[in-house]
Amino acid sequence: MILAHLPTGYLIGGLLERHLRPATCSSRLWMAVALLGAFAPDLDMLYFHLVDGRQHHHHSYWSHWPVVWFGTLALALTWRQLARRALAPVMLALFTLNGCVHLILDSVVGDIWWLAPWVDQPFALATVTPRYQPWWLNFLLHWSFLLELTLLGAALWLARRRRRNTAAQVAI
Ligand SMILES: [Zn+2]
Repeated sequence: MILAHLPTGYLIGGLLERHLRPATCSSRLWMAVALLGAFAPDLDMLYFHLVDGRQHHHHSYWSHWPVVWFGTLALALTWRQLARRALAPVMLALFTLNGCVHLILDSVVGDIWWLAPWVDQPFALATVTPRYQPWWLNFLLHWSFLLELTLLGAALWLARRRRRNTAAQVAI
């Protein structure tokens, strides 16, 4: 995915906010954590470029392993069951949920090692065939880019609706 990670994080944060955001957490912090989780797996690009010398696919690092994100999400949800009023578990659940969705989106046309570290085999739903130059044109002309645009459009729609609701609350 090229465009959709942050918009999808915004969508998930926005849709869950009304039901799950604790009163002690500001809307701004809630959305910041959602966006950070949606982007966090790709922070490994720093390691990829600065340390690894681009020798391995960054999706093969533990920071893109589903067991890390889904396992931490399961721990966060268990913690939340044990401490329902605490802020940290629900924020961790929001962060890791968006990390999990990041991996699902990555797996549409990008390899994800779903069974790592036990099986060294990447999986992707579809393959982008290299037909055009420059390379990014292949992604722009692939059906998966429609999915990206749909998620971006939905996030823009939600942002507009949230802004309207905020303006209406200020006016009351
Ligand atoms: Zn990624």
